[in-house]
Amino acid sequence: MNSVVVRTLFSLFVPGGLVVFTTAILLYMGTLDKSLSALVHIYPYAVAAAGLLLGWRFNRSRLVFAILVLALADRALLYFSAGSLASAGMGRTLYNTVAFLLPLNLAALSLMQERGIITVHGIGRLSFILSQAVVVYLICRFPQLGLAGFFNYSLAKAHLLSRLSLALPALMAFGTAFFLLAIRFIRHETVLENGFFWALLSVFLAFAAGKIGPFSTIYFATAGAVLVISVIETSHSMAFQDELTGIPGRRALDEALLKLTGNYSVAMLDIDFFKKFNDRYGHDVGDQVLRLVASRFTQVSGGGKPYRYGGEEFTVVFPGKTVSETTPHLERLRKELAKTRFIVRGGDRRRKKSENPKKGGGPRKRVKVTISIGVAERNERYGSPAQVIQAADKALYRAKKKGRNRTST
Ligand code: GH3
Ligand code: MG
Ligand code: MG
Repeated sequence: MNSVVVRTLFSLFVPGGLVVFTTAILLYMGTLDKSLSALVHIYPYAVAAAGLLLGWRFNRSRLVFAILVLALADRALLYFSAGSLASAGMGRTLYNTVAFLLPLNLAALSLMQERGIITVHGIGRLSFILSQAVVVYLICRFPQLGLAGFFNYSLAKAHLLSRLSLALPALMAFGTAFFLLAIRFIRHETVLENGFFWALLSVFLAFAAGKIGPFSTIYFATAGAVLVISVIETSHSMAFQDELTGIPGRRALDEALLKLTGNYSVAMLDIDFFKKFNDRYGHDVGDQVLRLVASRFTQVSGGGKPYRYGGEEFTVVFPGKTVSETTPHLERLRKELAKTRFIVRGGDRRRKKSENPKKGGGPRKRVKVTISIGVAERNERYGSPAQVIQAADKALYRAKKKGRNRTST
């Protein structure tokens, strides 16, 4: 359980948090001071180029739009604030208006679905972003419109938050965006959602510092960089993770097998009578159980690493272990699984088609499954991973023949 908590925290913090905090520490300690003027001429452009290229090639419109929003905000602040944060007037209004709109835009982009760039949706979103730039210009240029007063409305000087040099509407926008992105991340837990959260923090640090210029540009570029990295990570995990269960898939297994040296064992795990299970409860419940069973497999002891081999078959690789060393761990996993009652939703095959059990529809049900396991190790007879897997498969067949819910070697 502890390792699950550590892994969750790790995936929360890496890579987004790591990049943002590294930036903040380097800026705070003055490590970048000497190279700052050169950095602002390279870093933001490199991030923007990478973001636009990746967004285009991977069809990630949200990345493209986020880069655009960040670039617009950064350039507007630089040009209209003339390098320093004005205490009043147009520069101040611009600062507070951008600080209000930027977090809301990032949150909205995180909530949106991927709908392409050169599509009706994409062009609509692009027009909306550009129209905001026009509105910001009008608000700053024509204070008589009365909106400048709203965006500049600040807390009393004594208030703790007044130190942040952000007006109240901007603070509220950041608060709302942080809340929405945190909820979004907890519910969806995807790398890109995580990226949006850390990008928002980077942007917040830029505003909270109250300095316009190289500092804010670096923070904005870091926000973009976090999103770029998130998109790269997403593409990597799409290739290596199994979509249904979220654990590593066949491609990851093939790669892990190539890295094995010396002694190792491989176990093949197969759910018993899963076809009947599907027939009885429906394919959707079958899918839910596959996810739950896979998540159990990730808790296998003895240093084993699970992969979805395909269908309802899984592989656990134990580097550096013999069969006799792995068997107790596999037996414990099998017995605990057999004792578990999984709670699933749905389960009535006559359910109306419109109900989606993934969204929590249908009654709760407690179901159980058992697994059969075949395990083999590398030895003189089985020298390659493919041969060890084949031997484990044969052992699995024997486990099935002997009556299932058991481990064979
Ligand atoms: P045995 O005890 O011999 O393993 O019986 P079995 O029915 O589990 O074996 P078989 O390999 O014949 O059937 C596997 C079934 O697993 C077939 C298919 O309905 C089901 N299955 C495979 N992949 C998925 C999946 O992704 N989702 C669901 N719901 N079912 C799947
Ligand atoms: Mg089976
Ligand atoms: Mg099977």
